Amino acid sequence: MKFSDILGEQQISVRVKATEPCPKATQDIAVNLANRGKAIKTAMYGPLNPSEANTEYWEKLAKEWDVNTASAKKQLCGNCSLFIQTPSMKDCISKGVTGGDRKDEWDAIDKAGELGYCEAFDFKCASKRTCRAWVTGGPILKEKSAKPLRDPKGGLTAAGRAHFNRTEGSNLKPGVKGPADTPEKMRRKGSFLTRFFTNPSGPMKDEKGRPTRLALSAAAWGEPVPQDRESAARLAEKGRNLLKRYENSKKKD
Ligand code: SF4
Repeated sequence: MKFSDILGEQQISVRVKATEPCPKATQDIAVNLANRGKAIKTAMYGPLNPSEANTEYWEKLAKEWDVNTASAKKQLCGNCSLFIQTPSMKDCISKGVTGGDRKDEWDAIDKAGELGYCEAFDFKCASKRTCRAWVTGGPILKEKSAKPLRDPKGGLTAAGRAHFNRTEGSNLKPGVKGPADTPEKMRRKGSFLTRFFTNPSGPMKDEKGRPTRLALSAAAWGEPVPQDRESAARLAEKGRNLLKRYENSKKKD
């Protein structure tokens, strides 16, 4: 059975990046238990006590993976590529609820190995267990590098726009780089240029003579990067003209 088939059998609500805030399952024992239950039911997460022989369990997985039992026993959460043990995830796990009064027999088995976060089934799993969805290539020990939010050439990246739309309820769209040949493009580009360059909020160059983020933002709208206040003023004027054309286009409608 393929990994995607197993994933298709259950709802996986969370696919996290290690750089994001702690997954809820690492902080909420009820969520963790529910998700672990799903992994046990749908993907044979186990065995309960890895230090026992568990012959039937391993034979079943070996048959499914088409390997011998000895090889099957080497395919563990601890070397699965969905097993996340980055420093930030370990921190999440150690900060999270550890079980308390609700500790159950699965948690009571202390020989199941170190905990990590299973990205596939969204729960804290133990390195000496496994499941049918095991994927070679783990564990994941390094943080995923976050995608840059700012485009070094100016403006935001697509990831940056998505980030601010998500976190601040913005409705950011890419700048109009080509001709502003529709009323909507005239309005958007005109608005940007007048807002940013009529009374610029800062200089166009930093103390080392490099263009500032403010100046570079013009490039995100297909405009030359202004070198000084005068060239910024020309951009603002262009913006006002675009807004006039936009207003005229509305009158014609
Ligand atoms: S880490 Fe891998 S082997 Fe372990 S439960 Fe998750 S998918 Fe299965």
